Amino acid sequence: MTDPDQKARREAMVDYQVRARGIRSPRVLEAMRQVPREAFVPMDLREFAYDDTALPIAAGQTITQPWIVAMMIEALDLKGGERVLDVGTGSGYAAALLARIAGEVYSIERIGELANQASRALLDQGLVNVELRVGDGSLGWPEAAPFDAIMVAAASPSVPDGLKRQLAIGGRLVIPVGADENAQELVRVTRLGEDAYRREDLADVRFVPLLGEAGWDEARAGPQ
Ligand code: SAM
Repeated sequence: MTDPDQKARREAMVDYQVRARGIRSPRVLEAMRQVPREAFVPMDLREFAYDDTALPIAAGQTITQPWIVAMMIEALDLKGGERVLDVGTGSGYAAALLARIAGEVYSIERIGELANQASRALLDQGLVNVELRVGDGSLGWPEAAPFDAIMVAAASPSVPDGLKRQLAIGGRLVIPVGADENAQELVRVTRLGEDAYRREDLADVRFVPLLGEAGWDEARAGPQ
């Protein structure tokens, strides 16, 4: 089902929120034109699907602001056909964008309710190249490693070692990092060799916490 109004809003989102802020990757822009964000937000918030903001989803979590997702995916520098790990499936929107660009997407979410909803939304979009599981993504997905790219949509106190080690040589990890609950640095780590990594700071961001063994303690979760 294609709603012409939503399609027009989606085009405007790509032009005025994403391109206007400097995102130039044709693959990212095309994926954002194709994936209907309204299909990944709660029914009662669909009219706000193309607002320039994060929105609440179930279980006290959020779907990330469109241009931040665009910046993160652009930073992964995907050319097509890659094997990608998406940590923090949430609504499934970022996984859907990744699935349009990469070859195989492995997406992991700690909250079962969200994983179920995301799985349905992804299938409704005909995206069958996403494998989804419920679990602690701070530890990655060792059986499916190595990955050409890893994207983490929740903030960690530091870059988890296990995620770095699940990168292929040349692979890129994009993750929000910092001790402050209200402000983190978006960081890109590139694996240059067996034990060699380059770290770059990309932008100031604010994300929900990555809760798990290599992230924050569950006590940070608050009521859900
Ligand atoms: N990529 C999502 C989207 O497109 O909607 C954004 C999701 S939200 C900003 C971050 C998600 O990370 C939440 O759904 C949260 O439950 C999840 N999360 C937090 N810690 C996690 C962990 N250790 N493993 C997997 N998911 C985690």
